[in-house]
Amino acid sequence: MKQNNITTKTVTVPLSDNRCYDIHIGTGVLKTAGMHAKTLTPLEYIIAVVDENACKHRHFDTVKQSLQSVGITPRIYRVKSGEGSKSFATYTDIMERIIADGIERKTALIAMGGGVVGDLGGFIASSLLRGIALIQIPTTLLSQVDSSVGGKTGINASAGKNLVGAFYQPSVVLIDTHTLHTLPVRHMASGYAEIVKYGCITNKKFFDWLYKNGDKVACGDPHALMYAIRTSCQCKATIVAEDEYENGVRALLNLGHTFAHALENTTQYTDVLLHGEAVSIGIIMAYKTAIHMGLSRNSDLQQVVACLRLGRVKTSLGQVDFSFDADVLTRAMYKDKKLSRGKIRFVIPRGIGDAVVSDAVDMDFIHMLWHREIIDARTDNTAKMGNAT
Ligand code: NAD
Repeated sequence: MKQNNITTKTVTVPLSDNRCYDIHIGTGVLKTAGMHAKTLTPLEYIIAVVDENACKHRHFDTVKQSLQSVGITPRIYRVKSGEGSKSFATYTDIMERIIADGIERKTALIAMGGGVVGDLGGFIASSLLRGIALIQIPTTLLSQVDSSVGGKTGINASAGKNLVGAFYQPSVVLIDTHTLHTLPVRHMASGYAEIVKYGCITNKKFFDWLYKNGDKVACGDPHALMYAIRTSCQCKATIVAEDEYENGVRALLNLGHTFAHALENTTQYTDVLLHGEAVSIGIIMAYKTAIHMGLSRNSDLQQVVACLRLGRVKTSLGQVDFSFDADVLTRAMYKDKKLSRGKIRFVIPRGIGDAVVSDAVDMDFIHMLWHREIIDARTDNTAKMGNAT
């Protein structure tokens, strides 16, 4: 990844009652952590809930130095990598340790890492002493373009993902694109899927740009990355500003997620399928559903598949090392927390750049679609094995 001189850009998330917060995006942004922390807490310590890989790759060292330069010492609570950390067990363990170490209401909490630590750390901040100031420092592409913005925090329950949590907005989000240098390629691709999502639901112009430049984003070209992150954050900020608590338009951000959550539930939230990979396959399934409903065209689907492939993210079940079953996947969709009076709410794209929420999708069709995807995956894999022998 090249290092160019890129200036920091700021996107503001305006909320009701004159609340707002800034998202600072650029290289070297980690070095400003101390300055931002100083405006949020008068105390000489801060709580830092940090992903083990953000520590290992020394990104947290930069934050620590910045904090120390303004007289703040971080109390570090390291989080094991993986979705398994978004659990009651990790939440309770960290809460108990923070409380045992002694805490005052005027302190603040830094959540630094990917979406897992952002969601977990955010939920801890929301519930510790009924809420303390939160600084989100996302270090994966997915968390920089999506999970660190908008205030959804939480953990998983055994019945499903994100079932326990709170809407809790950060006071500031610090996005340093330099942290992505150490992110594995597969996780870059996973984050890329959420970027394509914004183009599909609200921004055809952005989609057209991704259709030409998606490979540069996934490969970490500094200018392409900066533009993609900033535009994604702006899309999310606009939607959150209009509908902070997801009573309407915010639901569009869940394009592909009803399918994705069923896939993740079935694969038990393991590395077999990353969140963004499940979203990528889910977006394609949503387009197939939209074509069936007469709301999108086959040419839209072809363009979306091509755009996702540019980022080298998985686009079919055949690329996932798991034996899926259409009955199990359809049943898993009913575990989604977005059920409305027992009906599943789907985000259905209307071409590219527009989408609607519908609870009138024919579930027999969805079952048939899963079935067809599974058969196609088996056929593709058999053909590949045949070619290899
Ligand atoms: P993640 O947090 O598991 O991070 C992916 C991997 O990258 C982990 O192994 C982590 O240790 C490692 N890592 C983090 N930063 C790194 C760096 N700079 N260099 C090297 N390795 C690094 O996964 P994710 O994809 O960031 O987030 C997925 C989670 O986000 C899911 O739990 C999903 O439900 C949640 N999510 C939440 C929202 C929201 O609005 N709150 C939105 C989308 C997704």
